[in-house]
Amino acid sequence: MGSAEQGREMQSAPVQGVPVTELKGVGTALELKLERLGVRTVQDLILHLPLRYQDRTRVVPIGSLKPGDEVVIDATIRAADVVQGRRRSLLCRVQDGSGTLTLRFFHFNAAQKNSFRPGKRLLCFGEARPGPGGLEMVHPEYKLLKSDGPALMADRLTPVYPLTEGMTQGRVRSLITLALEWMDREGLEDLLPEALLAKWQLPPLTTSLHYLHHPPVDADQTLLLEGKHPVQRRLAMEELLAHHLSLQKIRQQVQQQGAPALKASGELSRPFLDALPFALTNAQLRVAREVARDLQKPVPMLRLVQGDVGSGKTVVAALAALQAVENGLQAAVMAPTEILAEQHHINFTAWLEPLGIKLAWLAGKVKGKARETQLAAIRSGEAQVVVGTHALFQEEVAFADLGVVVIDEQHRFGVHQRLSLKEKGRNGERSPHQLIMTATPIPRTLTMSAYADLDCSIIDELPPGRTPVQTVVIADSRRDQVIERVRQACEQGRQAYWVCTLIEESEALQCQAAEVAAESLKEALPQLRVGLVHGRMKPAEKAEIMARFKAAELDLLVATTVIEVGVDVPNASLMIIENPERLGLAQLHQLRGRVGRGSVESFCVLMYHAPLSKQGRERLAVMRETTDGFRIAEKDLELRGPGEVLGTRQTGMMQFRIADLQRDADLLPKIHQVAAELNQLPALNEALIRRWLGNGDIYAQV
Ligand code: ADP
Ligand code: MG
Repeated sequence: MGSAEQGREMQSAPVQGVPVTELKGVGTALELKLERLGVRTVQDLILHLPLRYQDRTRVVPIGSLKPGDEVVIDATIRAADVVQGRRRSLLCRVQDGSGTLTLRFFHFNAAQKNSFRPGKRLLCFGEARPGPGGLEMVHPEYKLLKSDGPALMADRLTPVYPLTEGMTQGRVRSLITLALEWMDREGLEDLLPEALLAKWQLPPLTTSLHYLHHPPVDADQTLLLEGKHPVQRRLAMEELLAHHLSLQKIRQQVQQQGAPALKASGELSRPFLDALPFALTNAQLRVAREVARDLQKPVPMLRLVQGDVGSGKTVVAALAALQAVENGLQAAVMAPTEILAEQHHINFTAWLEPLGIKLAWLAGKVKGKARETQLAAIRSGEAQVVVGTHALFQEEVAFADLGVVVIDEQHRFGVHQRLSLKEKGRNGERSPHQLIMTATPIPRTLTMSAYADLDCSIIDELPPGRTPVQTVVIADSRRDQVIERVRQACEQGRQAYWVCTLIEESEALQCQAAEVAAESLKEALPQLRVGLVHGRMKPAEKAEIMARFKAAELDLLVATTVIEVGVDVPNASLMIIENPERLGLAQLHQLRGRVGRGSVESFCVLMYHAPLSKQGRERLAVMRETTDGFRIAEKDLELRGPGEVLGTRQTGMMQFRIADLQRDADLLPKIHQVAAELNQLPALNEALIRRWLGNGDIYAQV
């Protein structure tokens, strides 16, 4: 931990621009790993805040442990044995006078085993979990103690940070301690004017940061976990303000640019609509008209279309693309994953080719000669509509004359990416129109702030003839029954999803949990074909498993939340979500949207882990009672978001480090007020934007 920094020459540069490599012991390898966490500068490190805290300040008697408790125990070894179960493991039985507990190690060496001699005293930190023979800790941190005296304990709460592969908590902790020392020496300017801090009784910046990284033992952990502590509110406020200012700036700059005015001749859109096997819903018609009107103006459209999963956004996108083609310009349609992009490509080909329109297709896996051909067609303008993944952002892609950009499922893309695609379409002083589509419903009150740079349209109606998904809430103590239900559904020829969730601390852990779940389901359901997809698989592997599931070569698909934006498998009519209490309602709603796409009645089983908090119960009840995404979003806002979880971090409507639009909704009106006041101070605005959003330059050159 935080070894004192030795005689390093200090720079007078402000902390925020100082690269992490300036910190002692940070070389290129570590720099790259930190980069994956979005950490480039010392300031980024300081703003890399804990997900939660551990209490290592006191020893807890084994006899008082409940499953899920993460604690320090001080115990004596009774026995240690290597056992041969499903996996070879080292089991160490320990006791402290109040009870006994098993330590379980899957990875161990002989020296370790030999060091666990009966009678030795062991200080352990880990999470108590139910095991076959009572409570156990899997791979706890431990220290063998030599003496009988009191053990040395932490004097502050211990932070748990988001990690990336190859990083350990210990490493991140010591880096952050170094960064904080740096901050104390060099200072970190409080960008909020003093009068403002006083007016709202906000604590100073550096005090807040110290508190968040190393809270005192008596800190209100519940408040901290919920992100409602005054020190968090202070940072959230500043961050929201920075975002708001930057979006305001983007919007102003965009409106100064020109765009091709695209007439709506109907030349292509009319035959397109005539050929569809269905009539548009009123909501689709209204939104399509809003889009068509924007496209006719000589300023770039920036419109967000929100519509629940299955509300028919793709048709609206196609109409926008057609309006570009009718005017002799190109349209680009981009989806966040290869699977989704491929689906769009299939749809668009079926719809547009009969109209004589040429399409191009670009994704990571389009390589070599095929890629060259596609690129040439895009460059020459022969390809009128281009469908693809973020491969469309790449430098080698040049459009002849791009009129409209459609981005599907926007929450997967950052504002930056949106801008970079727009840059591509830039033709002199002219920018393409942008249509962004998202299935994440956002309450109206929030849209204004989250997407202050966009206009909004809402498709608030589903096409007729859908049967809503039935949702059941069940405790995981009834897991066997749930598994039986999966068996029955699959034996009737249906398919099912089994979704594993885990606190987002590390993707590795989440993937591991899914692997374990898949193994145990295979054992419990030997007659079923079980597949597994998780975030750490290669895109090609993932795509293959998804394709097999889609082709009904798999009955049950075990997945981490990567399937959130996944394939359309109408035959999948059952979804089990483990620990739904860990996810935000918006994300649950997204997941659930994967079933109920066919004509058969579909079910979603929310298998929670007891006990649920009052808010947890209410949240799951909302899921049971309604399938209307907007109502769910409003409810979520009403219940004020995350409660016990960090789940809302994943809803990712926008990347915030600290702020949460739902939780901090009450700050938004204030933000508008302050932003208006701060407009008198452009230099301060810039500094705020740079601090929280980094790449200030990207915003500057919109
Ligand atoms: P999403 O909004 O989730 O992207 P899609 O555009 O994929 O929804 O549409 C879902 C399904 O509904 C598709 O099969 C689409 O062809 C169909 N669909 C879209 N609009 C209508 C409509 N007005 N009537 C009937 N089916 C429709
Ligand atoms: Mg869609």
